Order: sequence, then structure tokens, then C-alpha cells
Amino acid sequence: MRAYERMLNYVKVWTTSDSSSESVPSTSRQFDLAKLLVEELKELGIEDAHVDDKCYVYGTLPATKGYEDKSKLGFIAHLDTSEDISGQNVKPQIIENYDGEDIVLGDSGRVIRTSDFPHLKNFKGRTLITTDGTTLLGADDKAGIAEIMTAIERIQSENIPHGKISIGFNPDEEIGTGAHNFDVEKFGADFAYTLDGWLEGHIEFENFNASSAIFEIKGINVHPGSAKDIMVNSQLIGMEINSMLPTETPATTEGYEGFYHLMEITGSVENTKLVYIVRDHDADKFDARNEFLKNIEKTMNEKYGEGVVTLTIKQQYRNMKEKIEPCMHLIDNAKKAIRAVGIEPEVGAIRGGTDGAQLSFKGLPCPNIGTGGAAYHGACEHISVEGMDKVVDIAVELVKIYAQM
Ligand SMILES: [Zn+2]
Repeated sequence: MRAYERMLNYVKVWTTSDSSSESVPSTSRQFDLAKLLVEELKELGIEDAHVDDKCYVYGTLPATKGYEDKSKLGFIAHLDTSEDISGQNVKPQIIENYDGEDIVLGDSGRVIRTSDFPHLKNFKGRTLITTDGTTLLGADDKAGIAEIMTAIERIQSENIPHGKISIGFNPDEEIGTGAHNFDVEKFGADFAYTLDGWLEGHIEFENFNASSAIFEIKGINVHPGSAKDIMVNSQLIGMEINSMLPTETPATTEGYEGFYHLMEITGSVENTKLVYIVRDHDADKFDARNEFLKNIEKTMNEKYGEGVVTLTIKQQYRNMKEKIEPCMHLIDNAKKAIRAVGIEPEVGAIRGGTDGAQLSFKGLPCPNIGTGGAAYHGACEHISVEGMDKVVDIAVELVKIYAQM
């Protein structure tokens, strides 16, 4: 079976996660896909395939006889889809022999424009899978699951010798908790790749360092008619604080440029709250950003009085680069595998966080390789059948490489 055929089957299952939920998994509907995958893994000969009570699917393909001491490689993908747009009743459009032009999505009035997604020009002649414009597609990350399944099938049917291979499918990646209950020890791999996000040939092993920074400002309110030298308007202090920041925001930065992002502002004369997130790939620059905010707090308290401004900084996640760098073979071999299937690898930095980062800090170094999909978390999400085939080939190549290590 080809990877896209599997994916078309999985996208029928509604697996949207829910960031407002307190339960694990965040939505029980994710079990529907988990159970289906366990059955399929068993059919593929993965005898120990199972789903635990938190909706994590695990399975292992034992090493070929004589390869028991080779590297133990893992592959991971996530079950859930983003809550940004509906993931229910997905009705994919299959466009054969794509003409390289804008794509109309059903009767929805939505159009995928090649001006927004320049890679589409290179996809001329391929078979594309899109949505009908009313939902997301769910290639993120059901393409990753389908590619892992298909690689496992290939390895067995072609009798490719291999070390132990661990397979993991987790819930709730999209709400940032997918790694929380991932049992790294049970998974039993030396290192792994997530198959998630972006086009075939992409490799990612850097993500942001991240913190949240909340300024709380206390003012003094009196009648405006008799306020001279008495009133302290906390909102004005809040505006002053924001004006002290450089214009490094999400809307003015890209690539490796970090930012301060004002997420939320609420205020009255007496109380104002500014909620920021701080992001930078570089650990030193990230620390400097947080220090800069602490200095603002100090400066404002010197100016307006001790205790007027209170800053609370919370670390959120860290760049996995420091955990991948000691095992750069993961990146070198990913490049080798991608070149082996005729694609020039592209290494990029994630402008966000990833499950792989959390897993890397939990002791499972885990870079990401692209699944072939694009325009995630929206109705324009799409993927090519040929790209998915290539990613299966890349995964099989990686298995061959690690069977020698
Ligand atoms: Zn994803």
C-alpha cells in the first residue's frame, strides 16, 4: 500500500485536540485513531503493538538476527490535529497531474494561491491532495503516521536487515503536551526522528528558547479633577514599558531572529497587565532578552517607586540543538538519506516549539524530518503523493544506515 492511501484512511478519523481540556489525552476521540493504528501495526507483524491509557501507541520491530547490537532507531508521529480549524468530516480533493496553477477548494470560495506557496510551481505533474476548503486536511501529522507505517511494511516485505526499530504515535502534540507522557524508557530507542511538518527533504533540529514574561503594574486612582501629583496611571506606565522594547516582534522577524511578542494587554488606571512571550534560538541572546526585561522592571520601580512594577518570567521550553549537537550523526545521516532519494536536503530552524525538543531533553535525541506537507493548521493544507513516497524512501534509507552503526 502507498503512504497516501493510508493517510486518506486516517484523515477520516476526527482527532482534533483541545487546549482547554484538563484530561489526558485532551480529547478521547484520539483513541479512535490509536486503536485503528494498533490493529494495523499488528497486521504488519508488530506483535507488541498497544495503546496505553493515555493514548500513546507503542510498538517495536525486533532487530534482524545478527543485528541486535546495532543502533536502536525510533520513528514518532502525532495523532491529533490542530484546533485552529475543524478536523471533522475531512473530504480530501485528489488532483491528478497538477497543472502548477492556483487550486480552487471545492465550493468553499477558498483558493490555494501559488503566490503564497511558491513550492507548488515545482509540484507540476504530481498528484496533490488538498481539502475541500471547509476543514484542515490532517496531513499534519497523519502523513507522518502513514509514512512510518509504509516504511515498516517495506522493511519487512523487502527483507531489509535492521537493528531494533521503535514506533511511537502520541496524542496532543498540537497543544504542546505530546511529549509529557511519552515513556522514553519503554520506547527503548537510542534516538528517534519525528516525521512531522513541512516538505520532503526538510530537516529541523533547532527550535526557539521560550519564556513568558508578565508585567503587573499598580497605579493610584483619584478623581481626575484633583489628581495632580497624586494619580499614577498604570496603563501609561504599561505603554512606557512597551515603548522601551526594540521593534522585534513576530511581524518584523524571521529565520533566526528572536522577538518579544505582546500577547495580551488589560488595564485600568489602578491595575495593568502586559503579557509577553520571549523567543530566541540563541541561548545567550535569549538570556539577554530576559535580562533586558528585568532591567526595565528595575528602571520603572526606580522612577515610580518600589513595587509599582512586578515582572514574572517563566521558562517555557528550550532549543533542542544542545541535545542534538552531541549526536550530529542524526543530522548527517538524515542528509545522506535525503540525498540518496534524489533530494537536496534543507535544514531549517523551527520558529516555535516541538515535541522532539521535549523528548530530546527527556533523553531521546529527536530531530524532525519533513513529511511532504505544507500550509498546516488551515484549509489550504496540502501534500503531494510523490512527496510522501519520497519520505517513505528516506525513512527506509535511515533504517539501512543505522543497521550499519
Ligand atoms: Zn504536526
